[in-house]
Amino acid sequence: MSKGTLLVLSGPSGVGKGTIVGEILKRRKVALSVSCTTRDPREGEVDGKSYFFISRQRFEELIKENGFLEYSKHFDNYYGTPRKFVEEKLQEGDVILEIEVDGALQVKKAHPDAVLVMIEPPDRQALFARLRGRGTESEERIESRVKRADYELSKAPLYDYVVVNDDLGKAVGEVIAILEKGERKK
Ligand code: 5GP
Repeated sequence: MSKGTLLVLSGPSGVGKGTIVGEILKRRKVALSVSCTTRDPREGEVDGKSYFFISRQRFEELIKENGFLEYSKHFDNYYGTPRKFVEEKLQEGDVILEIEVDGALQVKKAHPDAVLVMIEPPDRQALFARLRGRGTESEERIESRVKRADYELSKAPLYDYVVVNDDLGKAVGEVIAILEKGERKK
């Protein structure tokens, strides 16, 4: 039996889940899992903090070594949760994963006690419009991002809780209450 709750937070790009996680870390003693990824670092991202940025070859070795609690491919890059870190930290207390839906559902299979929380935007169409309006990328890339956001939201019924991020403080409070309850709703 582990001591802590494994809280898995997902939500479409742009919904503000990173900000919510940042606020929870300020207010509660929880460990945030740092994922491995094969994508390139963005400006300001720090290796070992934002992600462990590793090669595709190393990632595939880690898959074979059963080093991931879950992993998935997202826009042609691998993302995975290091198994050892999470299992060790769960012996001490609560752990948060901020991962996309396919990985979250794998976690649920391996750890049925994990609590899955979907962060939803107050207005889906407004979120999609924002995703469309970002940057100078190709039409194809923009559309695939919107489609992906729609896909992520379609998995909400499989989650234990849905939290609407219409007010940051309220959303943070709701996620903390779920964490403190520490169990699945259904
Ligand atoms: P980004 O490239 O924008 O940092 O992340 C893209 C997506 O990958 C986000 O939805 C993020 O939550 C998800 N992600 C980050 N780390 C992991 C992980 O370890 N596993 C899975 N399955 N998804 C992850």
